[in-house]
Amino acid sequence: MMEENILEVKNLETSFFTHVGEVKAVRGVSFSVKKGEILGIVGESGSGKSVSLMSMMQLIEHPGKIKNGEVFFEGNDLLKKKEKEMLNVRGKEIAMIFQDPMSSLNPVYRIGNQIIESILYHDKISKAEARKRAVELLKMVGIPSAEERLNSYPHEFSGGQRQRIGIARALAVNPEFLFCDEPISALDVSIQAQIMNLLMTLQKERHLTMLFIAHDLAMVKHISDNIGVMYLGKLVEISPAAELYEKPYHPYTQALLESIPIADPDLAKSRGRHFLTGDVPSPIDPPKGCRFCGRCSKCMDICLEVRPELKEVSKGHQVACHLYDD
Ligand code: SF4
Repeated sequence: MMEENILEVKNLETSFFTHVGEVKAVRGVSFSVKKGEILGIVGESGSGKSVSLMSMMQLIEHPGKIKNGEVFFEGNDLLKKKEKEMLNVRGKEIAMIFQDPMSSLNPVYRIGNQIIESILYHDKISKAEARKRAVELLKMVGIPSAEERLNSYPHEFSGGQRQRIGIARALAVNPEFLFCDEPISALDVSIQAQIMNLLMTLQKERHLTMLFIAHDLAMVKHISDNIGVMYLGKLVEISPAAELYEKPYHPYTQALLESIPIADPDLAKSRGRHFLTGDVPSPIDPPKGCRFCGRCSKCMDICLEVRPELKEVSKGHQVACHLYDD
């Protein structure tokens, strides 16, 4: 049986207003996620990945503004909800794991209090029961001596342990959906695999739906059902994960995939490579047509004038590039 979309984002637009003008950080992003799926979103820094995620949760602060769009979560538009209603969505229905666990945990509160506070905000249970659940959560994410460590402060843990605590807090009230904003990029490489394994185990055990933002295409390949590639505030390709790696259409996706290091030197030599030249254009004054035209070796006249929109090239695979116009 086909699962229904649990999240549907339509034409999301977010701008920041600065003294030099409007900076469109997210420009008409649309996608959907089915229950139990993992959607990976990749792209360079500044491509709008995190701003999209923060916009969906109504966490954009001044001078930022969500200018347009709809974000349907289980049929209700999150962008129409008042702040009081969003407080019940955040944590309870959709939880977030952030890039830097040190800044997402409050440094002056014991970690036990931070987890218990979140449980008591959403669930009508006693403080003793909430404490018991916090201990179980710490055990679940692999924190040794969980009962005693509830009384420790964030700085008394390693980076990997802090991220484990961030995951425990995110799962404290059994959310259905997890937004992961580059949850491993601030960690040592040796710890990254442990945290990814933990997240994937919990995703399976709890049937979580996930939106997973990352820089690293090689890593999202292994965890995602579908992958979206963002460039300068727009999704330029979205596809089932395996197909994106076998048959990438967009020149930017091709370049990203070709930049993944291959351990075998012979295989690496035989692989074609398109090196990207030039810089990402300024979001204040982006190119009129395709935003990738200044860096694309296949740029045509139409690319300079007409902005390509996402079009389906095969089932579930969409690309925004004039090379695939009818
Ligand atoms: Fe390159 Fe044109 Fe495609 Fe843009 S639309 S990626 S410039 S070929």
